[in-house]
Amino acid sequence: MSERRGLLIILSSPSGAGKSTLSRRLRDWDKTISFSVSATTRAPREGEKDGQDYHFLTEAQFKADVAQGEMLEHAHVFGHFYGSPKAPVQAAIDAGRDVLFDIDWQGAQQIQNSALGAHTLSIFILPPSIKELHRRLESRGQDTAEVIGKRMQKSWDEISHWAEYDYVLINDDLEETEARLRSIVSAARLKRVQQPDLNAHVMRLQTEFEDRS
Ligand code: ADP
Ligand code: 5GP
Repeated sequence: MSERRGLLIILSSPSGAGKSTLSRRLRDWDKTISFSVSATTRAPREGEKDGQDYHFLTEAQFKADVAQGEMLEHAHVFGHFYGSPKAPVQAAIDAGRDVLFDIDWQGAQQIQNSALGAHTLSIFILPPSIKELHRRLESRGQDTAEVIGKRMQKSWDEISHWAEYDYVLINDDLEETEARLRSIVSAARLKRVQQPDLNAHVMRLQTEFEDRS
């Protein structure tokens, strides 16, 4: 079977629509998918581990990394800097492993416009309704009413970029959304550009074809 190139799988959504849940489920389904641990200047939330959930950096460290070209993309979100370190992504895709990104529309745009754009699969997650989005943010029990209010206000900004993505999923029934997400990833892995050995295979077919008789 031919080798394949790794995909850059981008999941974006307004906060609360379910991208962390879906991202976790996708990685449970296929443990070879690596997660791009972002760098951020925001403070860790309770239970978050440095190096696992995020790389928590000072603003000076973050800006130095950006200046040295170490970020694949970076953006200012909710008053803090966020970025995806480039080196682990390159290492994973060179080894034929997919990398999953939980980033906003600004990061998605930058990666899609980068040299790795051809190997990118972008998916936007929409909530079934704004009322349900609010309910999910509250049920997560992670934020204060004030933070939830801010997230709700920002959600329209994020939703307004839905048409810039390859696929859009309405996350109503979780099982169904997960099944659709798996189908999308499975199909994207079979794209011509993800199969670097195809050329050689077709050349072999050509030789066999010409040697027939
Ligand atoms: P995000 O990462 O987009 O901010 P989360 O994955 O944290 O969102 O989901 C927000 C909340 O909604 C969580 O409590 C999660 O368990 C719940 N949730 C996610 N998807 C669904 C769904 N399809 N139906 C009901 N609840 C969901
Ligand atoms: P949170 O602070 O709630 O973890 O994340 C806030 C927002 O920042 C989310 O929309 C998340 O997708 C986005 N985000 C997280 N990491 C990155 C990143 O590395 N780059 C970009 N552009 N956005 C990110």
